[in-house]
Formats: sequence, C-alpha cells, structure tokens
Amino acid sequence: MPRERLYLFDTTLRDGAQTNGVDFTLADKLAITCLLDELGVDYIEAGYPGANPIDTGFFAERRPLKAKTTAFGMTRRPGRSASNDPGLAALLAAEADAVCFVAKSWDYHVRVALETSEEENLASIRDSVAAARAKGREVLLDCEHFFDGYKAKATYALACAKAAYDAGARWVVLCDTNGGTLPHEVEKIVGEVCQQIPGDHVGIHAHNDTEQAVANSFAAVRAGARQIQGTLNGLGERCGNANLASIIPTLKLKSEYAERFEIGVSDAALGHIARVSRALDDLLNRAADRHAPYVGESAFATKAGIHASAIMKEPATYEHVPPERVGNKRKLLVSDQSGRSNLLAELERIGFAVDKDDPRLSRLLDAVKEREAQGYAYESADASFELLARRLLGKVPRYFEVEKFDVNVEQRINAKGERVTVSMAVVKVKVGEEALISAAEGNGPVNALDLALRKDLGKYQGYIAGLELTDYRVRILNGGTEAVTRVLIESADENGDHWTTVGVSANIIDASFQALMDSVVYKLVKSGAPA
Ligand SMILES: [Zn+2]
Repeated sequence: MPRERLYLFDTTLRDGAQTNGVDFTLADKLAITCLLDELGVDYIEAGYPGANPIDTGFFAERRPLKAKTTAFGMTRRPGRSASNDPGLAALLAAEADAVCFVAKSWDYHVRVALETSEEENLASIRDSVAAARAKGREVLLDCEHFFDGYKAKATYALACAKAAYDAGARWVVLCDTNGGTLPHEVEKIVGEVCQQIPGDHVGIHAHNDTEQAVANSFAAVRAGARQIQGTLNGLGERCGNANLASIIPTLKLKSEYAERFEIGVSDAALGHIARVSRALDDLLNRAADRHAPYVGESAFATKAGIHASAIMKEPATYEHVPPERVGNKRKLLVSDQSGRSNLLAELERIGFAVDKDDPRLSRLLDAVKEREAQGYAYESADASFELLARRLLGKVPRYFEVEKFDVNVEQRINAKGERVTVSMAVVKVKVGEEALISAAEGNGPVNALDLALRKDLGKYQGYIAGLELTDYRVRILNGGTEAVTRVLIESADENGDHWTTVGVSANIIDASFQALMDSVVYKLVKSGAPA
C-alpha cells in the first residue's frame, strides 16, 4: 500500500524565537536554516518580515532551499482593505515561498482582543488569503486558540477555518495556543474538523503546557491531520512547542506511523538528528538536555550491571529502538553499581581489548568504586573515566606537569567608581625541560585559572587551540562543613566532539583544576600528541 505523505513544518526560528533567553542573530537564523534543510523538514518558518531588522533581512533575498521558506504575519487589520495595510504589504513583499497568516478563531478573542465583529474577522481571513494567493504564494492560516474557540463556539471556529480553505489556503492549521488541550480532546475535535476540510489540508500546532504537545500532535495525525508544526528541541514560549526531535524519530521508527506515512526526512538524515539537536543547543550556548528522548546523552544509557550484560548480548532487551538510527550512542555507565560487564563493554567502546579475566580489570573496578565513594561521578564524566582506565592500563604519557598555581580574587573600586571583583591566576608548568609561567585575568577564579593554564603549553599549544569549555557544573556533596565539591566540566573541540571531566575536592578551585587538567590531557590523548 502506498504511504500517505505527512508534512513537517518547522517554526524554531519564529515561535521558537519566543523562548525566554533566546535571541537569534541573522547568522544564527541562517545556520539553523541549513541544519533544518539538511534534516528534511518541508517548511521553515523563519520570522515576521517587517517586525524587526533581522527577520526583514532574512526575507530580503531568496534563500535557495529544499524546504519552503515561510513568512509569518497577521491577516489584514479590521476596517482596512488588504491593499491598504502596511503590515500585510511587508509580508507579501517578503522573498518567501509560503505565507503563514495568524488569525483569531475564538469569538471571545475577536470581541475582546480584536474589538471587531465576527463577520469582519472572517472577511479579513478571506481577503488576506486571496491577496497572498494572487501574489503566487502558498498560503497557510494559523487558527489561533482554535481548540479553546471550538469548545466555546464550534460553528465560529469552523467558519474561520473554512473561510481560509475556501479562499485557497493550502493548509489550515489548528493551534492549541494556550497549550492546555488534552490528547483525547484534540483527537475528537480534529476528527470533526476533517469532516469539513480534507485532512491533507489540516495541520496541528501544539504547545507543551501539559507536557503533551508531542502526544497532541500524534492525536491530530490519528484523527486525520497531515501537517505537524513544531520546533527543534521543543523550543518555544513558556513550556515550548511540540518537539520535532522527538516527533521525527517516532514517525520514522514506530511502525504504526512508519508504515502509513512518508515524511521528507531520509533514513540518512535521521541518523544525524542527535547531532542536529546538539548543534542547536551549542548555538544557543546552553547545555543539552541529557534526558531528551532519542537524542539526549542518556537516552540509551544503562547503569545497573545486570541490564548491561543483557544489553551486550541482545541490545533489544533494554532498548526500544537502536541508538545508531538517530545518531546516538549506547552507553553503559561505569559507576559503583556497575559490574565487570559494564566495564568491559565501556573499555571495548573506547578501544581497549582487555581479557575478562585480566587482573587489572578488578583494580580498575576497585578504583572506580573507591573514587565514586569520594564523590567522583564517572557515569557523567566519560573522559575522566577513559583517562583513569588508560592510566591504570599504563597508557597516558606525562605531557606536562603543573608545578604550582596561584589564584587570587580581589574586590576594588575601579576608575569609574564602580565596585568590581577581578581574579588573577598564575600557573607554572613544566613541559619536558622547559619551564613556562603564564598569568591571566578572568571574571572569576576558575576562568582565570583556565585561561592561564591554556595560555602556553609550549609544544602542545597547537593541539589544544580548538579546545573550548562549554559547560561548568558545581555540586556540593554531603552538605555541612565536611562538604566536598564536585565539578563537572564539559568541553568541545574543533571537530565537534564533546566530553565531560570531573574533579572532586573540599576546595572548589582545586576540584575545578582537576577537571580542567583532565579535559586538557584528554584532548592531547585524543589528538595523538607525542609524549
Ligand atoms: Zn505557537
């Protein structure tokens, strides 16, 4: 049986840009557009031309993409003609393949927010769709608050949807703008709409305020809708939009959907979705959600030894899909709960062939347990584990030695009369016979120490040039005055590789320094730097 085409509409750059703390530059938007286009979404909604210089800039020229670039904006204002509305004119002037209008479909909003009549709102929908069609654009209409509107006055919500469809809109998109609708309600209402408008012209735009935006999107598809709107990593206002990084793998890998529907995302592109998800977080300079379905670092991580030995024999015992299909990795966490099987599997993954009866294996396991008792967390710090294993198996060169370091923090009044706190670090390193001293100032003691340590490592400097710290997490363990501090540092390099290292000490600077050292040494090992 031929599969039906299901369309994906990405609004990371428009609705996703509403996220608290997210500010895309034009360069960010273009980079994300590239990622999305390679992924294979059908539509990329990039912004609101005329609303700000960045979005206007995006639509100032034709962007040659596989996906249809989509400009977003409002229908004509009440009481104005379509040809005499500057907002609409800016939207229609945009270099875009498609135009997505947003319009009210809840009578309450028409009355209170728009302060116009129900009939005038319908006329505005009809006129705006017709004007964009006349300009040769594909047209979508986002019916704002559709589900709440439908519950309040179904005939009017439907009339808005029908007005757009009858005027020639390719898609009528039902929006759960406040995000409070539940999956069974979505399924029922979309089913009723699809009796009036063919499902292959109906889309769903779900928000995640009850943590069910993904479920609501699938409920709409089951009821007949054939376009899903969402964002990468579920970016979006409040609790976010439907997460395409979860929806796409489900559509591709779960037979209920994979057998019925075809989407624009190829198997090869699906194999990069974990990287794409990660790339967005990198661009936003925020830590990735480790527990994100499919794409998170922990999505295929197993801790307990008994599960691990089963996974080694038959991965399907504890995995709902193979991690490599989404470009993720199986991870057997090495921790004090783990047995030999985790350890062996992890060693194999990082490229050590160790016999299961090798006595060094027991030593490594003991070392992990002992250090975890002190507060180290190797399951979160893959690179520190690898170094520990390499050291016990005798394979890490002594690249350099830190003879001493000194960090100070000073608060003073600057020339402008402001109270400022600055940190300064001095690090004395020995590389072979060469003694090197570096000093640096930073916005905090760890930052200063990091800058000083990586300022001059002599012959190794070239190997660490691309090293970057991407996340820094501190946790105080056991509380009270006996507390120890655990620092986890996440690093990345010029090849896009990521790793995490750990340090533990009663002193936060010392703990940070251990994690920094592990990161630098790990990078040298990985780059094959000579001893
Ligand atoms: Zn929205």
